Amino acid sequence: MAAENIAVTRETFDNVILPVYAPAQFVPVKGKGSRVWDQQGKEYIDFSGGIAVTALGHCHPALVETLKRQGETLWHTSNVFTNEPALRLATKLIAATFADRVFFGNSGAEANEAAFKLARYYACKKHSPFKSKIIAFHNAFHGRTLFTVSVGGQPKYSDGFGPKPADIVHVPFNDLAAVKAVIDDHTCAIVVEPIQGEGGVMPATPEFMQGLRALCDEHNALLVLDEVQSGMGRSGKLFSYEHYGIQPDILTTAKALGGGFPVSAMLTTHEIASVMAPGVHGTTYGGNPLACAIAETALDIINTPAVLAGVEARRQQFTDALMALDSELDIFSEIRGKGLLMGAVLKPEHASKARDILNAAAAEGVMILSAGSDVIRFVPSLVITPEEIDAGMTRFAAALRRVIAA
Ligand SMILES: *Cc1c(COP(=O)(O)O)cnc(C)c1O
Repeated sequence: MAAENIAVTRETFDNVILPVYAPAQFVPVKGKGSRVWDQQGKEYIDFSGGIAVTALGHCHPALVETLKRQGETLWHTSNVFTNEPALRLATKLIAATFADRVFFGNSGAEANEAAFKLARYYACKKHSPFKSKIIAFHNAFHGRTLFTVSVGGQPKYSDGFGPKPADIVHVPFNDLAAVKAVIDDHTCAIVVEPIQGEGGVMPATPEFMQGLRALCDEHNALLVLDEVQSGMGRSGKLFSYEHYGIQPDILTTAKALGGGFPVSAMLTTHEIASVMAPGVHGTTYGGNPLACAIAETALDIINTPAVLAGVEARRQQFTDALMALDSELDIFSEIRGKGLLMGAVLKPEHASKARDILNAAAAEGVMILSAGSDVIRFVPSLVITPEEIDAGMTRFAAALRRVIAA
């Protein structure tokens, strides 16, 4: 028997969902490419990509095809048994990156939790149980488990939940001298987003990333890159470390990996992986055949010259439109980020208006995001069409004019 449909609206949210979100006033019910429709049939252009997740747009035919095919074949076996999609996806991720070993999870936080545990465990087994210090950065975001909010650099997300994991030090992002001042031989890892996403769309400088690599090598610490948001083509390269001429020891990715289906991966080297043994870490759902089959299809499409090279042209179209808007309204102090992870920074006199701009944009029919209090964030599909960008920017312009005039 089919599930019984009951009527639900945005108001239902307030009555049934834990109040940790403040969702927009409309309820999306359908998506195709970079267009979304709500319960009333109103159309939106999607510049939010499900927060940098739906990198191939909504309901991409190849992903739908894989979902249906694998859905009729095998969904879940647990890690008591391995499965073909996971083995194929791992093999392809290894071929495309620095890595030799993969661990699959279901979310970015889970991949990071595994990464931080691995960094500590490796140091403990290879060096000393006292080599546990993790260096991380102000404004960093690594997920919502207690360990990942503690490594994250925003105390508002980690305060109030009791004692935090110890031996985590935060210093300013892009400040190599600050890292030098705290790193020592008891440091097991530096954890960094090559482009801070939630923290305001802030790219690391090349000197900073190369300096972190050198400091890690000097102190036998691991360089852990959180590419949950910046990975899977978003920067115009498959992973953004490729922009910096360095290689990490551990890398995590999630968001776009499944193109909208929950899946995450932690990648590392054979040497680091070799301290692990059966039972040391694990997850029930991680690496399930359904998620891995879809991620394999997403990777096959994203990791092609056509999609990766298309990112820069799309960025250009976005920045041209944003610059034109800025010459009209004098509202942005900077357009920053890399590839299709873009942040339009509001001038100080408009800094408090991000929320109003998001609401006005929704009213005009375009979905956008903020990052921090004063940055408008655009993380659209990597294959959004020029026509969709144009239509969305026209609506965004109307929203901005309305907020500025108010
Ligand atoms: C979103 C994000 C996470 C957390 O991912 P979840 O899937 O929400 O657990 C971690 N790190 C970065 C950089 C992110 O952008």
